[in-house]
Amino acid sequence: MFLPYGRQSIDESDIEAVAQVLRGDWLTTGPAVEKFERELGSVAGQSNPAVTVTSGTAALHVAYAAAGIGPGDEVVTTPLTFLATATCAAIQGATVVFADVSDDTGNLDPAAAAAAVTDRTRVISGVDYAGHPIDAPALRRVADDAGALLLEDAAHSIGGSLDGTPVGSLADITTFSFFPTKNLTTAEGGAVVSADTELLQRARTFKGIGMVRDPERLRSTDEGAWWYEMPELGLNYRLPDVLCALGSNQLTRLGRFKARRAEITARYSAGLADLDGVRLPAQRPGADPVWHFYPLRVLDGRRREVFDALRAAEIGVQVNYIPVHWQPWFADRGYRRGMCPVAEEYYEQEISLPMFPDLRDSDVDRVIEQVRTALGG
Ligand SMILES: *Cc1c(COP(=O)(O)O)cnc(C)c1O
Repeated sequence: MFLPYGRQSIDESDIEAVAQVLRGDWLTTGPAVEKFERELGSVAGQSNPAVTVTSGTAALHVAYAAAGIGPGDEVVTTPLTFLATATCAAIQGATVVFADVSDDTGNLDPAAAAAAVTDRTRVISGVDYAGHPIDAPALRRVADDAGALLLEDAAHSIGGSLDGTPVGSLADITTFSFFPTKNLTTAEGGAVVSADTELLQRARTFKGIGMVRDPERLRSTDEGAWWYEMPELGLNYRLPDVLCALGSNQLTRLGRFKARRAEITARYSAGLADLDGVRLPAQRPGADPVWHFYPLRVLDGRRREVFDALRAAEIGVQVNYIPVHWQPWFADRGYRRGMCPVAEEYYEQEISLPMFPDLRDSDVDRVIEQVRTALGG
């Protein structure tokens, strides 16, 4: 049987939570949204509620829009990420500047980010690759020196922490994704959290088509109860009650999901530790990751061979990620291979092994055995 590389954990209580909303009065923009937003804020260590949106991509778009970036501005980010971390800045008209990653974690390297900063840098965007938090204190210094915001794409890492500070309170603005393979799911969904109330208000306005009804924000106030205004442009990125109810119920199991992901990671590492020709994922002191996938590095140019052998054995491995600056859209704009050699070498070695809470120990053992067989050890 084919073993997927990631999948959701849905139980009867999730189904019941969704059914309850369907039987009620609000399908969208009702009490389940407010509840999920308060709970997410609290998981992120924020007193502000989160701003929920329809995907992790929407969360990034909303975050860049709230940061007010546009043509002439630069966003420094990592190429070892999903497209949206970079493209949502580009779609706002900003210039994306790729900086290299640290060789151990695959996260944005603060020294490389510092070297990429110019007087046009407005945002520095790190990604918690595979669930391991970014080096936020060092990136914070780079961002502060540049007069830029620090954004953390935490699509992989909700529930993690660094030196006791939860992911969601490490950067100026943090985005989450609730796609089925992520650490918790709302089918499609995402959120933005921040301690900056004004930034969050701009995010909320953007995801609601730029419309405001709050009397304090209106220019004309005596037109009548139907009145709304559009001070800013926006889009409809509202996450409905149906999906927020699923998210709230999933959140009650986030701790268990995280613990099981840690067990699976430890089992992979124990089973592969003595194998030559591979590198296992690093964990820095003070980092408390939520392992979103297991990034195994296969050395000596053997990645393709091991990947194909695992797929042939019905094991759903992935590669995370093709360096974003290699994509045709960026290549057409002058971005070149070789610009970020550490990230590019990381990509050339990487295979993501299956990781999801319902994965059984026997499945993990089968993956380990197949990796060992493929490498002849
Ligand atoms: C999944 C992911 C996104 C986008 O989230 P979607 O919900 O799929 O739109 C953004 N960044 C990273 C690092 C991701 O893994």
